[in-house]
Amino acid sequence: MKRDLTILGSTGSIGRQTVEVALEQGISVRALTGGKNIDLMEQQVRLLRPSLVAMADPEAAAELAQRLFGSGVPVLSGEEGICKAAELDTETVLSAIVGAAGIRPTVTAIARGARIGLANKEVLVAAGSVVLPMVEQYGAELLPVDSEHSAIFQCLMAKGGGGAPRRILLTASGGPFFGKTREQLAAVTVEQALKHPSWRMGAKITVDSATLMNKGYEVIEAAWLFGLPIDRIEVLIHRQSIVHSMVEFEDGSVMAQLGRTDMKIPIQLALTYPQRASLPLSPLDFTQQPPHTVAAPDRETFGCLALCEQAFAVGGTAPAALNAAGETAVYAFLSGRLPFLAIEQLCREVLAAHAPIPSPSLEQILAVDAAVRAEAEERLSAFSF
Ligand code: NAD
Ligand code: MG
Repeated sequence: MKRDLTILGSTGSIGRQTVEVALEQGISVRALTGGKNIDLMEQQVRLLRPSLVAMADPEAAAELAQRLFGSGVPVLSGEEGICKAAELDTETVLSAIVGAAGIRPTVTAIARGARIGLANKEVLVAAGSVVLPMVEQYGAELLPVDSEHSAIFQCLMAKGGGGAPRRILLTASGGPFFGKTREQLAAVTVEQALKHPSWRMGAKITVDSATLMNKGYEVIEAAWLFGLPIDRIEVLIHRQSIVHSMVEFEDGSVMAQLGRTDMKIPIQLALTYPQRASLPLSPLDFTQQPPHTVAAPDRETFGCLALCEQAFAVGGTAPAALNAAGETAVYAFLSGRLPFLAIEQLCREVLAAHAPIPSPSLEQILAVDAAVRAEAEERLSAFSF
């Protein structure tokens, strides 16, 4: 079997771990894409010798091209360049760009029938209604990389025949602010929000985990990937992050996937599926574990979870609008322009004002994404603190 790979977002947290897994598994990496981290991309190109590389930022692409002059590796630029990378005929595309910026490149890879290792959940949040039919139409394959969805996928692999599962039990660590009140949340800092208790990840998803927006996105992601209505997807707070999610079957039997909090496990499974390969991680010692706890999420304090469920129930472009507002709000929080609780407030306002387009095309979703970003920017500059 030909085993080669394109990594969209290779300079990010998931991208860097994917590079390591590819090297460990002897998978040839033929295309890399990044945003503007020139130093890391130069190192990755010299290490992996891909057929091409693309940078979203045109200035970064120009600088990288200078540094790689004479190497024979072409450097493309902008979204168009990234889509060219996605078009290269590799077996697998690991989709690990953050945010809606990953939609077009991922869709490009789907349209050539590739196997997609999907880390970028925003693709399904904003555009699941067009992406899933395309996967079918082009004979592509979606393998989840998000740890919870990989866990569910693994439970379903083990399930054998029979009908759809009765429920998905989606676990959540609860993030750094578990147990806090709204009053306490009003004063939290960027530094505190970036201290996730169990996972080291990119900044955007780490803040999404602190608001529980990430879990809301994951409910939508699970609904699309596994074809269940969201009232059959239950979120459970499990602070220890050992159970990565569970599936309940018709007969009441529940299957769970457990493991270390290491994203290499779901990344590697997406790259070697249907095989499992060995990973040099120390095994879980169950005798040394703290007691495992499970609790319902605090939906009043962390309102973003319900916002996601609401947007999904409305359908059409509502989830895309929420996603665009969420991205704008998180980056504004990270740059000190918005307090933590205003992330939820901005998203709530944008969602309430959005007139959703039913059954949107991809172009309509992308247009809503752009328009809502502009609108959210305007709204946040009018916020007073
Ligand atoms: P990250 O911020 O560390 O990396 C993002 C990557 O996307 C980088 O390579 C960056 O250069 C690139 N990028 C950023 N903006 C871009 C743009 N406009 N155009 C093209 N490329 C751009 O993020 P991450 O933590 O690796 O997360 C990537 C995706 O995977 C996110 O959707 C996240 O929700 C999902 N995910 C991450 C983890 C994790 O452990 N990090 C776990 C589950 C899911
Ligand atoms: Mg997750």
